[in-house]
Amino acid sequence: MKIRVDDIPESGMELNADSSNTGWLKTVFLDSFGKSGMIEDDSGRLNLQLYKNDKNITVIGGIILKFHPACDRCLAIFAKQQQIPIHQILAPAFFKDGKKAESSTDDEDVSFYEGDEIDIENIVKEQVILAQQMVNRCSEDCKGLCPKCGKSLNKGPCKCKKTTEHDSPFAILKKKKKKNQA
Ligand SMILES: [Zn+2]
Ligand SMILES: [Zn+2]
Repeated sequence: MKIRVDDIPESGMELNADSSNTGWLKTVFLDSFGKSGMIEDDSGRLNLQLYKNDKNITVIGGIILKFHPACDRCLAIFAKQQQIPIHQILAPAFFKDGKKAESSTDDEDVSFYEGDEIDIENIVKEQVILAQQMVNRCSEDCKGLCPKCGKSLNKGPCKCKKTTEHDSPFAILKKKKKKNQA
């Protein structure tokens, strides 16, 4: 999904897309999550405003994503809604002696475009992948898996011998404390 810089009016431009009927957006999600990571009802809605200031383009808006990641603790698949903000400034890449000279700024919100087009698909994909580095937890108090038998403790206790207070690191600390006080 590329947009010609010349096609962005001075007054700005709005871009709306829904992955359920927009092929390129669906492809972004499929590429980011893999085929097994997207199930039938999973979708994302994109809303972006594009503003032009001379040759610099400001892209601002976000994605609302409904999908089914695996919980980092118990590995269960659960429904999640995520808002991914997008705010990026695109400046034209300039060339010096045939070499690309990009390091004119170290502002991390600024990236560069070549030629007379900006690649919206790339920007969206980058932000979606970045957002997936966040923690996925099925619930605030997910109990995770038993380290011995691998059973999900959200479904009740497993048959492994319970860790007694004796074995817990806190109990050991308590003991030490007592020793020190004696
Ligand atoms: Zn969980
Ligand atoms: Zn167990």
